[in-house]
Amino acid sequence: MRSSILIIYTGGTIGMKTDPDTGTLVPFDFSAIYEEFPSLKRLKVDIDVHTLTPVIDSSNVQPHNWVTLAELIREKYDCYDGFVVLHGTDTMSYTASALSFMFENLSKPVVFTGSQIPIGVLRTDGRENLITAIEIAGARDAEGLPLVPEVSLYFQNHLFRANRTTKRSAEALSAFYSYNYPPLADVGVNITYNRSAILHPERYDKPLCISSHFDDGVCVIKLFPGLTEHTLRAMLSIEGLRAVVLETYGAGNAPTADWFIRPLEEAIGRGLIVLNITQCKGGGVAMGLYETGLRLQQIGVQSGYDMTVEAAVTKLMYLLGQTQSNKEIKKRLEEPLRGEFTR
Ligand code: ASP
Repeated sequence: MRSSILIIYTGGTIGMKTDPDTGTLVPFDFSAIYEEFPSLKRLKVDIDVHTLTPVIDSSNVQPHNWVTLAELIREKYDCYDGFVVLHGTDTMSYTASALSFMFENLSKPVVFTGSQIPIGVLRTDGRENLITAIEIAGARDAEGLPLVPEVSLYFQNHLFRANRTTKRSAEALSAFYSYNYPPLADVGVNITYNRSAILHPERYDKPLCISSHFDDGVCVIKLFPGLTEHTLRAMLSIEGLRAVVLETYGAGNAPTADWFIRPLEEAIGRGLIVLNITQCKGGGVAMGLYETGLRLQQIGVQSGYDMTVEAAVTKLMYLLGQTQSNKEIKKRLEEPLRGEFTR
């Protein structure tokens, strides 16, 4: 059974190659993909390519770019069996997390990938990342259903749930990792799918809906010894601020002193939502464990459990864009919407 795949190129390192005459990096033409990689013809997939204009370095990505990308996928949704999004690595985890929240009733694979070395450079990691991402996006079971019908991120031999990933290295070819959730697939000689870890929709025939409103009234406050009341109060009184991701220590701990607790308590009293996630890469928040976490719980700080900062920020922007009701937002923060945390 052949699958049809749409590759969407948004920008980033993967889309560059060395000009043989000048030695400089020039854009790679993905529409000539079969000429560049004739071996692709051996996969049971038909490929189309769409390049978003302008292509951008992912450090320039803003929420409106997430909306453009999601709208394109919705528009082409019925024409393809799966989608591969080529994206710069710097903010790939943010975009992929945001899309995971935006899509309602997703039942087809959306696989993000990119590379650390341009695709047109001899030692590139982009070639393997691209070809394997295409294979995964087109993979189906005996009944013809997609093997990975969720938003995922493929990089260097591992397929991860996108909203569990973080860019962990600016140097290593294994640039991404999911510290708190197992890979959805491991790639060696064969691709081994971890079927029990993959999310499946209740029904495959529902139309894909996207919600295209993000509210950027969110900021991240990362704790460090030496943070002052003055700085904290300044951040908490930013105009338009509706929610804060508080990056705490260890299992969700923070200073117990009044200078720290009181400004937070006052801000929560004014209607600010505060979501507690840990600065640690692995593990999550357990606010009842120490006095230093319990105080936060008592003043109404919510647990982000083992969410990444990328998932926490994009989930908040998404929820704030959906409703003005803090009660509703707080309720939805308590439930994993797309498998983004484990309690
Ligand atoms: N700055 C580039 C980007 O994120 C880096 C990369 O693609 O790896 O667009």
